Amino acid sequence: MRLAVLKETGPGETRVSLLPDAVKTLIAKGFEITVEAGAGVASGQSDGAYEQAGATLSNDRASLLAWADVLPMVNAPVPEDQRKIKRGAIAIGFFRPLDDPAALLPAVEGGVTLLAVELVPRITRAQAMDALSSMATVAGYKAVILAADTLVRLFPMLMTAAGTIAPARVFVIGAGVAGLQAIATARRLGAVVEAYDVRAAAGEQVRSLGAKFLDVDLGGIATEDKGGYARELSDEALERGRDLIAKTARTADVIITTAQVPGRRAPLLIRRDAVENMRPGTIVVDLAAANGGNCELTRPGEMQIYNGVTLFAPLNLAVAVPGHASQLYSRNISNFLALLVKDGSLHLDMEDEIIRGACVAHGGQVVNPRVASALEAQADAQTTS
Ligand code: NAD
Repeated sequence: MRLAVLKETGPGETRVSLLPDAVKTLIAKGFEITVEAGAGVASGQSDGAYEQAGATLSNDRASLLAWADVLPMVNAPVPEDQRKIKRGAIAIGFFRPLDDPAALLPAVEGGVTLLAVELVPRITRAQAMDALSSMATVAGYKAVILAADTLVRLFPMLMTAAGTIAPARVFVIGAGVAGLQAIATARRLGAVVEAYDVRAAAGEQVRSLGAKFLDVDLGGIATEDKGGYARELSDEALERGRDLIAKTARTADVIITTAQVPGRRAPLLIRRDAVENMRPGTIVVDLAAANGGNCELTRPGEMQIYNGVTLFAPLNLAVAVPGHASQLYSRNISNFLALLVKDGSLHLDMEDEIIRGACVAHGGQVVNPRVASALEAQADAQTTS
């Protein structure tokens, strides 16, 4: 079982797919591991640390792509690299299979088995492989740090000889994994925190972190699906949320917004007029930017100042904390890889709900129906444009 850890090549990417401790564990399970020189440097891991863990180093990326049976990755490789991967090899990573499936076609056509971490079913058994939750945790934390670093005020209440400083007011929209981590981080810094989510179940978790949960009467409609995720709401129900958000935002210093509905564009929750009524100096961090954003003014990937309000729309805040983002991801990946090993050799068990769920392509074909539809839709959109 030959496994290669590659240096990520995406713009701004700082993470690595496996850390030395995971390399050591996998070698003990029977993997032979080669690491591309410099793969871990941006996340604080030297080549020497990989060697000490038992890996071999290589500078020859093309040969590594052709050699490996298993390729754990953070992002999908560029087409040229995909074409160099050995037929039948297994690649695993954040492959954006529903957002940009066409970008994976060289690997699909080359017979590479693609496993996308975004598609790992969120069942209890797969929790230790849940890379989306890992990255959301890091992003929720970092969003608060970014806001605190930019805000013209302090976060905690301070009583000094020069007078009392009131605590910052932080408003978190969407209390899922990222939102709850943002609440916990803002509380640790001493802010007064309010949060809103359409799922009533989130209320208890918000309160347990010492924040106030804002309830909206949505007329008793179902806001949660059977998997525990938010449903897409009617425009009327969304508008009630928008009104509450506009009112709360008027007195907030920082707004962290994280609302998402799986498989859909992120809901628009902060209207332009809500931003216009915010106090100058307010900071908004839109963590849903990669999915279109929760704020009407969001320009994904850009920072802007509008009427004195600073709007951040980061596409991937996890890359700003590469050490711990890689540590969590590496653990998720090594737990996933453990599923692929049986009696010391690789075994792709399509009966396993987790492997089947994550599998995008196998044997030269796209095998996931949602990905196949996304690919068709993408091809149609390209023909009509
Ligand atoms: P997410 O990223 O899809 O959404 C973030 C939050 O936005 C969610 O809490 C959602 O309810 C909220 N939201 C959606 N539309 C909204 C709207 N119009 N207004 C306000 N809020 C809105 O979700 P997530 O963070 O990945 O997780 C959501 C839930 O799933 C949580 O309860 C989490 O604990 C659970 N979860 C379970 C597992 C598992 O393995 N069992 C793993 C991860 C998450």
